[in-house]
Amino acid sequence: MRIAIASGKGGTGKTTVSVNLALSLENVQLLDCDVEEPNCNLFLGHPLQKVEDVGIQVPAISKDKCTSCGKCAEACRFNALAVLLTGVILFPKLCHGCGACSIACTKGAISETIQVIGSIERSASHTHGIELYQGVLNIGEPMASPIIRTLKGHIDNSRTVIIDSPPGTSCPVISSITGADYCILVTEPTPFGLHDLMLAVDLVKDLQLPHGVIINRYGTGNDGVEDYCSENSIPVLMKIPYDIRIAQLYSEGTPFVLRMPHWKDRFQDTFRQLQELTGRF
Ligand code: SF4
Ligand code: SF4
Repeated sequence: MRIAIASGKGGTGKTTVSVNLALSLENVQLLDCDVEEPNCNLFLGHPLQKVEDVGIQVPAISKDKCTSCGKCAEACRFNALAVLLTGVILFPKLCHGCGACSIACTKGAISETIQVIGSIERSASHTHGIELYQGVLNIGEPMASPIIRTLKGHIDNSRTVIIDSPPGTSCPVISSITGADYCILVTEPTPFGLHDLMLAVDLVKDLQLPHGVIINRYGTGNDGVEDYCSENSIPVLMKIPYDIRIAQLYSEGTPFVLRMPHWKDRFQDTFRQLQELTGRF
């Protein structure tokens, strides 16, 4: 089963849920798709090894062959090319590597070259039975989705796969959660949490993904999230209380199920609930 953990905004406890759920189950592959800031391993401490670089194909333009006709810039949906009398300028950070410009150029002036934007790493050991993969987007690179797609190419379907998605509702989130059997949306019981949860619910509905909610820091804020879930028949899978002990362990980088083992039972119960909801085991 593939379980995606997502949230409409950052800081709700998405990684906390991903890591603690992973530690509560057996034979788990954990994919950290939050490639701008992969932090699952801050809590696991696995030694990591690089698996591969990830690159996108960007155009290389031959000044000798280019006639400045402008067809490549017209074909580029991302405004990554500007055509001047003196030739074509590429803005590499805007380039999505789609290849449309090379198809549009009838003068054979465009070839393609690989621009490395990040890498894939995996845990060298399977401590706690978890195989961790993480994507790393190089600093200054804007496009996370190619890294996430490459990362998901390493999914091992013989394991329970937990996908820690980036926060928000943009393209990298869609790349991360697409293909999941179930999406857990982590939120907090505040008006901000509710607002961003509603955006995330719209997204998973558009993607037709079965989904439920885990409320973190339960006991703060108000009842807005619970009322919304009830009115929209969204299952609340778990409530993690606003608890000083959990907060202390978090600040030490210790997953709370390792020190509060009764929480493993709670996560295992939630997993069984997902199995029943999805019919996948
Ligand atoms: S389409 Fe080809 S020839 Fe025309 S401006 Fe672009 S690179 Fe130059
Ligand atoms: S590869 Fe695509 S995004 Fe990049 S410059 Fe060409 S048309 Fe634009």
